Amino acid sequence: MQDRDGYIWLDGQWLPWREAKVHALTHTLHYGYGCFEGIRAYETAHGPAIFRLDEHLRRLQDSAHILAIDLPFDRAALAAVCREAVSRNGLRSAYIRPLVFLGAEKLGVDPAGADTHVMVAAWPWGAYLGGQAIEAGIRVRVSSYARHHPNVQMCRAKAISTYANSILAVREARRDGYDEALLLDTEGYVAEGSSENVFIVRDGEVLQPETTSALDGITRRTVETLAREAGLAVRAKRITRDEVYCADEVFLTGTAAEITPVVEVDGRRIGRGQPGAVTRRLQERYFACVKGEDVAHTDWLSAV
Ligand code: PMP
Repeated sequence: MQDRDGYIWLDGQWLPWREAKVHALTHTLHYGYGCFEGIRAYETAHGPAIFRLDEHLRRLQDSAHILAIDLPFDRAALAAVCREAVSRNGLRSAYIRPLVFLGAEKLGVDPAGADTHVMVAAWPWGAYLGGQAIEAGIRVRVSSYARHHPNVQMCRAKAISTYANSILAVREARRDGYDEALLLDTEGYVAEGSSENVFIVRDGEVLQPETTSALDGITRRTVETLAREAGLAVRAKRITRDEVYCADEVFLTGTAAEITPVVEVDGRRIGRGQPGAVTRRLQERYFACVKGEDVAHTDWLSAV
């Protein structure tokens, strides 16, 4: 990642990619306190466009607010930086990563005295869960790690520190030959994937867990809207792992993972063991939106 051409924005300056460095005593490097976003830009007929940019930047502001970090840049300024990160790097489609972190001005758990820094980078990133995942679906295992209790890590924040848990879960899943982990909350109800929200479909109804212990995903909200527009009933409720086993369809949603069908959970085949009709329909509608082909939702796109 560090050795490529291009530019990274750091604290108001565009730096050559290889020179965008931080000090070894950076506070966030030691204690994991900070937050970030993951945003995608897609190629459209009118050039690259960023999907739901304002929603992502609102969530970044919310994340910083939850962590009591004062963001030194407003949404309009960050939106302009995200657009420029795509154009300046000559990208037609991109993954955009804004990151808010505390600097090396001070160490010790209490960050008082450490400055807030903001970075934005953009690069091409294909299918997050591998080339075939979107088409063929993936195999998932329920993790032995629980997702955070809301009074341990506040999951509404896309906080860096919540990802140690995600990393443990995804490594365990891959070690055991699965593609992704499904995490339960501390009470044993389904929460989310290591970096995706989860939906199940049963008898035509689209169900998702409450976001108590899950990130309030922007793809999740997009899918909710698209499902309702397609005449499907959508509901958030507590979901048990055996409800997932017995679902007709299961799929994961995320900016990086987009809409990824799940065809097996813990060795149990889901539905017919292939991506289901509702998942396919939602995928089609989602990809039409991100590529600017759905005229009803062009307001979700910000031209670069
Ligand atoms: N949950 C977690 C833990 C995530 O990291 C992500 C990815 N940001 C999601 C859910 C999905 O969120 P979004 O659709 O906003 O990308």
